Amino acid sequence: MSVSSEVRERAVEAVRLASELCRAVQAELTSGDSLDKQDRSPVTVADFGAQALIAQQLSEGGDEFAMVAEEASDVLRQPDQSVLRDKVIARVREHRPDLTGEDVLAAIDRGRCEGGAGSFWTLDPIDGTKGFLRGDQYAIALARIENGEVVFGVLGCPNLPHDAGRPDGARGALFVAARGEGATWRSLDVEVAAPIRVAAIDDPSAAAFCESVESAHSAHGDSAKVAEILGVQAEPFRIDSQCKYAAVARGDAAIYLRLPTRADYREKIWDHAAGWIVVTEAGGRVTDVTGRDLDFSRGRTLSENRGIIATNGRFHDRVVAAVQSVIGQA
Ligand code: AMP
Ligand code: MG
Repeated sequence: MSVSSEVRERAVEAVRLASELCRAVQAELTSGDSLDKQDRSPVTVADFGAQALIAQQLSEGGDEFAMVAEEASDVLRQPDQSVLRDKVIARVREHRPDLTGEDVLAAIDRGRCEGGAGSFWTLDPIDGTKGFLRGDQYAIALARIENGEVVFGVLGCPNLPHDAGRPDGARGALFVAARGEGATWRSLDVEVAAPIRVAAIDDPSAAAFCESVESAHSAHGDSAKVAEILGVQAEPFRIDSQCKYAAVARGDAAIYLRLPTRADYREKIWDHAAGWIVVTEAGGRVTDVTGRDLDFSRGRTLSENRGIIATNGRFHDRVVAAVQSVIGQA
């Protein structure tokens, strides 16, 4: 395993710190904390702040550093964005008072790598920004990709209940997985990790399935038809971000469907790498909607794949077949 224990600890600590930053921003969100990007998706003080913190912490590790991350500082450098820029810098400096404003912006831009072959980190500093803005679920998703293989991943889920059966109980979970070594979870606030496993269910009719809250990200009508074919009894449970992968990995759900809403959309590697390894190492399986393995070696997107199917692994092919019969892609 090529990720040393020192690097893993650094990565986990970076995600934990970024989770704290995101919690603090979400608790005090105001309308001046976000803006819409060119693609009309929202970005907040916390997206930029989390990316700056994690890129800075990891790049101080001494090893060669490359990262494919969602955000860039360009918009913050525009003269009319000085309020947002100053908020980002102030949030990061709460954790790293040694950094200047320019250090913070430069740290954000350490995520400009294009991916592809070789070894790099991939980061979604806030996956599920729409959930974050609604006060719902979101995730800080960090993964290490080496020669096309995801070898290590950390998912920070600051709002996720520790126990899905007790939604009003303690919240804030951190999931960690390393290739061939299993997956664990711990509370964000307590440094004790425990192994997790997917649901031990052999019949999809007994499965819970999860999907995006946003109908623009996954075709809810198609997934309802798939659920009917499989005889799934429970209502879909909708949750933002890679918390869906965490839900499958710890057995809250046995199926996660992400069914294409547009023929031209390509999934981003940072939206799936950490979730992929957490589910895979917890005993589950992840493919695209055609049953193909995800190919993380193609650059910033999963250009060879369409949509996502994640399951507990016990009836994956049946789910793929049901999805194919509904959406009809070869
Ligand atoms: P979720 O919270 O699972 O709905 O996913 C959030 C992610 O959806 C964001 O990080 C976006 O990168 C991604 N996204 C944006 N547009 C689409 C789309 N048309 N299809 C699938 N995913 C999308
Ligand atoms: Mg995302």
